Amino acid sequence: MDNCIFCKIINKEIPSKIVLENEHVIAFEDLNPVAPVHILIVPKKHISDAMDLEEVTDYTYIKEVFKAIRKIATEKGISESGFRIVNNCKSDAGQTVEHIHFHLIGGKQLGKMVD
Ligand code: 5GP
Ligand code: ZN
Repeated sequence: MDNCIFCKIINKEIPSKIVLENEHVIAFEDLNPVAPVHILIVPKKHISDAMDLEEVTDYTYIKEVFKAIRKIATEKGISESGFRIVNNCKSDAGQTVEHIHFHLIGGKQLGKMVD
């Protein structure tokens, strides 16, 4: 998709610190981390947000996202201490990049989500 930052990262037109990549997903360090571990897991198909998941095949990507999350959490040593998965959908949630992505956040005690 033209002008999509995450498609450009997938296509290696923009550099990123990649921690995992396979046929379905790419995972890289967030540019502005909010915790010691803050990684974005991104399907390689341009799906805008959670409401844009339509085709059955789209769910293959979500399955692969969660497989990647388990792998990365184990590698980062936070599989037992725990972590948070965040997916922002559209404006009220503060989604800034319109290519579906999942934040993997951990490595410290996280505050409660109050909003
Ligand atoms: P959202 O607010 O859409 O849920 O999350 C977008 C995330 O993408 C933000 O945490 C932001 O720091 C991150 N981000 C935006 N642009 C880039 C970029 O060019 N490279 C990387 N690595 N992260 C980015
Ligand atoms: Zn995209």
